[in-house]
Amino acid sequence: MRIDLHTHSRVSDGTDTPSELFEAARLAGVDVVGLTDHDTTDGWDEAYQAAETLGLGLVPGMELSTQHQGHSVHLLAYLHDPTYQPLCEEIDRILEGRDGRVERMVSVLSGLGLPITVEDVLAESADAVSTGRPHVADALVRRGLVLDRDEAFSRFLAWGRPAYVERYAPDLVSTIAMVSAAGGVTVIAHPWGRSGVSRRLDESAFAYLKAQGLSGIEVDHQDHDPAMRVQLEAIAHNLDLVVTGSSDYHGRGKKDHELGVNLTAPEQFEALLERAKAVAAASGRVTPTVVMPR
Ligand code: AMP
Ligand code: ZN
Ligand code: FE
Ligand code: FE
Repeated sequence: MRIDLHTHSRVSDGTDTPSELFEAARLAGVDVVGLTDHDTTDGWDEAYQAAETLGLGLVPGMELSTQHQGHSVHLLAYLHDPTYQPLCEEIDRILEGRDGRVERMVSVLSGLGLPITVEDVLAESADAVSTGRPHVADALVRRGLVLDRDEAFSRFLAWGRPAYVERYAPDLVSTIAMVSAAGGVTVIAHPWGRSGVSRRLDESAFAYLKAQGLSGIEVDHQDHDPAMRVQLEAIAHNLDLVVTGSSDYHGRGKKDHELGVNLTAPEQFEALLERAKAVAAASGRVTPTVVMPR
């Protein structure tokens, strides 16, 4: 069974609709897809339909950008109750923070001689629940100012580049607690990846996060080289954390992140589902179902 637990659709900053993403998964020979759009579960319904139609598996999830000790950490949440009110309120704060920064990015870019408008950017995110830097990048591409998202990030939008603008991010530990209270399990996404300023979370940091309710570490990710994967796997093993692998697919929006490029081992997937069951039971919430492939 080929399991890919981290993907993005047009509902956030990918380029495929959830249905197109599942069709692409079928073509790539991926059997189980984790749909983890940024800050939203709005793609879940369409994903359930597509999974059912194609006989593929689905793990509904979401990716949240959090902060931990002043550093950005991406958190994957799976199988939580999407109606859990405290989490919905946190997501609303995140979406507000996203909206607020579009205008600032546009004005910095204009100052740099890159004439795009807020309307240009919003046109790129028309199908999405919120607007992110990839949509700003798409607007620059459409105006012919850069070649692709990669160039837009490396020259202007990445952390440390001139048009980078901070946005509100909730605290990592509180977010882990909130997802657990919503009946979901959490996995740190690409912990040693390039996501902005993320410092290397070490074994003691992971031990602490596990005590706060963390279930796993995304080890096999394109941002991690082979040596990092070996070290992270050892940490996960020592701490009895689940090891996941995934593509972080964004459709045409991200190079070298094709569906199935990294996979989660079936026994690790089983372990994650076991933890999800336990967390859901402890939370008392009604949690979404996992679809297994036919
Ligand atoms: P935001 O959530 O608005 O801060 O934007 C972060 C998103 O930008 C993440 O989903 C990343 O996957 C994406 N991203 C970061 N660097 C790049 C890049 N070089 N090319 C394409 N997308 C990127
Ligand atoms: Zn993204
Ligand atoms: Fe991420
Ligand atoms: Fe992602």
